[in-house]
Formats: sequence, C-alpha cells, structure tokens
Amino acid sequence: MYSDSHLHCAFSSDSDTPPEEQIRRAIALGMHHMTFTDHYDPDFPPDEFDFLLDFDAYFRQLSELREKYRGQIDIGIGMELGLQPVLSAPPEETVSRYPFDLVIGSTHVTRGIDPYYTEKLMQGCTEEQAYRTYFEEELENLTRYDCWDIAGHLDYVVRYGPHRNRDYTWERYGDVLEEILKVVIRKGKGIEINTAGYAAGLGYAHPMPAVWKRYRELGGELLTIGSDAHTPDRLGQHFQEAADFLKSLGFRYYAVFRERQPQFLPL
Ligand SMILES: [Zn+2]
Ligand SMILES: [Zn+2]
Repeated sequence: MYSDSHLHCAFSSDSDTPPEEQIRRAIALGMHHMTFTDHYDPDFPPDEFDFLLDFDAYFRQLSELREKYRGQIDIGIGMELGLQPVLSAPPEETVSRYPFDLVIGSTHVTRGIDPYYTEKLMQGCTEEQAYRTYFEEELENLTRYDCWDIAGHLDYVVRYGPHRNRDYTWERYGDVLEEILKVVIRKGKGIEINTAGYAAGLGYAHPMPAVWKRYRELGGELLTIGSDAHTPDRLGQHFQEAADFLKSLGFRYYAVFRERQPQFLPL
C-alpha cells in the first residue's frame, strides 16, 4: 500500500480519532510510512473549531508512538498549515520551532471566510468569482510564504460551490492554476494528490486531472499521496486509482518527507 502523507487524528479539532487507531489501521493496510499532518490554522474565522494545535503535546505523544511502532511502520510528524494572505503572526517562526517532517501549506479560508459554508462563500459573488478569488488568494499564499513543502488540495474550494465541480474546467481557471503550478515548481516544492476529492463527490482526487497534466508538462515532479483521513476507515482510500492515474501521465515516483526532505518511492 502506498504511504499516506496527509492524515489527521484527535490533535485536529475536527477529528476524534486517537492517533494509535490511525497507526494500527495503516499497519493493517500494509503501509510502510505514514505522516500525521494535523491542523494548525492560525486566525481561522470564529467557528465551532479553532484549528489550533498543542505542539508540545503533539510531538510528545507522536514521538512516543513513533518509538513504540518502530520496525512496524515509519511514522512522520508533520502538520497542515492553514495560510491566509494576512496572518497576525509569521507562520515561519512556529514552523522553525519544531522538528516537522512535512509541512503541507493549505488554503482553507477565502476572503476571511470558511468556504465550507456555501452561503457565506457565495455572498455577493458568482460561483466563478468565488472560485477565482480563492485561487488568487492561494497563489498569493504560496508566493508569500516559504515555510511549506507541499501545497495541499489545490482546488479545495470546488467542494463547496453550489454546482461544485460541474463548471470547473481548465479552460475557465487554467490561467490562475498555471501560475500556482509555476510558483510551486520555481520554489522546488510539490503538490499532493488528495483522495478526499472522491469522498467529497468530485469523481477524482484533488486537484482535477487537467492540473496534473499541466504540472507534468511544466516539469513538475515532486508529489505526495494523501487521504486527508480524519477517521481510520478513510486511510489510504483510492490510493491505487490515484497512483494508476499519475502513472498514466508519466509520473514514476512519489515522495515521503522526513525532516522536511523528500524520499522518493516508486509509484
Ligand atoms: Zn485541508
Ligand atoms: Zn487535511
């Protein structure tokens, strides 16, 4: 089973899963590596969740589990860092304070709102404007900050528009998506294939197939595979389909990050 580089446990405010349950499931699936990437989303708009992370407890507990399961599975300690164009404190400082294996840079907020709430996302704009603004902010986030290794679920926003991905095409959004890919490549960073797109009903993993095609054409090589599982049942889901798709485009390797460095494994 391919290694999962995007998964959550109860250290994320939107998951109740004890970390050990994720570990046991990954071992049962036959994974050789797994990387926890719990949420740290500073300045997240007020909501039922705060998406902050108790870094000391996180490292303490996951380091113990890493030792306990050494020899059965290699456990990485990463995080999913939520980015916004304006943050009250520089995220670089937090990232440098702890020995993360992987930092996924994700855009979960657009125009200061959580797009999960479709009504808020659509306030005063069309779906196309809402999606475009999200991509422009994501481009700004990935350009402005350097303290990430992999850009998370690039087209996360299309889960939440009223028509979801019905009108979401490369023809319509390719100009800004291409700029995002160019920034990723120029910075020597990568993108992830995030199979939560299937669970969200998109019919594919994030980002859409056309983005992967263009990433390849532009010379993009660095990628990780992640389920974004918040519960054990979703761990590793659709990984074979995702890998087969990537291979069909000519990708040969995926990466697992340790100490912020990629280790390449065959697809
Ligand atoms: Zn995310
Ligand atoms: Zn996630």
